[in-house]
Amino acid sequence: MVFYENMLALNNVSIACDEKRIVGVFGANSAGKSTLMYTLSGIMEDIRKKELMAGGERITVLGSVTYLGEDISGLKPSMRARRGLILCPERRRIFSESTVLENLRIGGYLAKPAEARETEEYCFKLFPPLVKLRKRIGGFLSGGEQQMLAIGRALMAQPKLLLLDEPLMGLSPLMQAILVKATRVIRDERQVSIIVTEQYARPVIPIVDYAFILENGAAVLEGERQELLDNPDVRSAYFGVES
Ligand code: ATP
Repeated sequence: MVFYENMLALNNVSIACDEKRIVGVFGANSAGKSTLMYTLSGIMEDIRKKELMAGGERITVLGSVTYLGEDISGLKPSMRARRGLILCPERRRIFSESTVLENLRIGGYLAKPAEARETEEYCFKLFPPLVKLRKRIGGFLSGGEQQMLAIGRALMAQPKLLLLDEPLMGLSPLMQAILVKATRVIRDERQVSIIVTEQYARPVIPIVDYAFILENGAAVLEGERQELLDNPDVRSAYFGVES
């Protein structure tokens, strides 16, 4: 549960992602997707402390986050990241004044040098358009290129569980398709578990194993992909697929 002051942003939500699975969390604007991602990555705790110091709103987080069998609710975001719980945030938030290569290397600063070198090569293999942009300043990239870079930077941090917060936002259908495919490739080739949020389920549903639907901070529906797709009401209401 997460309250912003008296507003209940996450209401009794319980989500899980098994190893090497892709879990989708879908919901409209303000459904609570980013609040969930901040809570899992620990950034919520930083936001709460900052608000407290600034005398701002009271944020209350109730419940727990279990990762690889351990309760990590009290761990700072940096400690969660060291264990492989990595957030690729909404709106990409790349370092816009640094080059592509610098962005990747910043992402890999905790990795062992050999791992960082290998992952850097992997990122360019996964996202070939970044190869000739490696010296380009991040802020000059297109939205799709920035998203590739944001995912690449997250990979550099050696995730075991990758949190992708609305990676497709504002991108063309072609770019969305490239990123959705890359997400599956990452899971298959890097053995990473992935939780991905999106406003619209349709582009992502083909690659998720399991999905949750959030409405006004509550998980109103969940199930295996096929189970959800087999239900005509769910299909038309949430996946934009007429039966
Ligand atoms: P979007 O698609 O717009 O990113 P979302 O599903 O990620 O939406 P959240 O950003 O988690 O939704 O927001 C959930 C609710 O909590 C919204 O009503 C939002 O206005 C509110 N909210 C988010 N952050 C804060 C904050 N720091 N203080 C107060 N209310 C907040």
